[in-house]
Amino acid sequence: MTDTHKGTCFCGAVEIEVSGAPEAMGYCHCASCRSWSAGPVNAFTLWKQDKVKATKGGEYIGHFKKTERSDRQFCTKCGGHLMTDHPHWQLIDVYAATIPTVPFAPGVHVHYAETVLPMKDGLPKLRDIPAELGGSGDVVPE
Ligand SMILES: [Zn+2]
Ligand SMILES: [Zn+2]
Repeated sequence: MTDTHKGTCFCGAVEIEVSGAPEAMGYCHCASCRSWSAGPVNAFTLWKQDKVKATKGGEYIGHFKKTERSDRQFCTKCGGHLMTDHPHWQLIDVYAATIPTVPFAPGVHVHYAETVLPMKDGLPKLRDIPAELGGSGDVVPE
């Protein structure tokens, strides 16, 4: 994947574009993702910050930071969710559903210890997050 892909919020006021390839893709089962998304799991794609840009409607992007580690971004017109910037990792999680033309190829499940929706797909299940991102790196059963 060396091309660019566009995505929009729920109403279309905000357009974002990603370019190149994501650093990682997978599923996050943490309570924060579930509460924010109102879904049982968050399908994430992680991109270097300079690979993601708002190409339209940037003035409608709202921010919510429960902690300094996650800058959750949404459309202030429709409330649709867009992405979460993780400044300490210098990576942005553009939710897979926001960029539907990017082929979703999940490689890992993170925060699986908190799951409410076990997914027996044979992929590695991490208790929290990889050691290189500051987690335990522990693998847990499906
Ligand atoms: Zn919108
Ligand atoms: Zn999460």
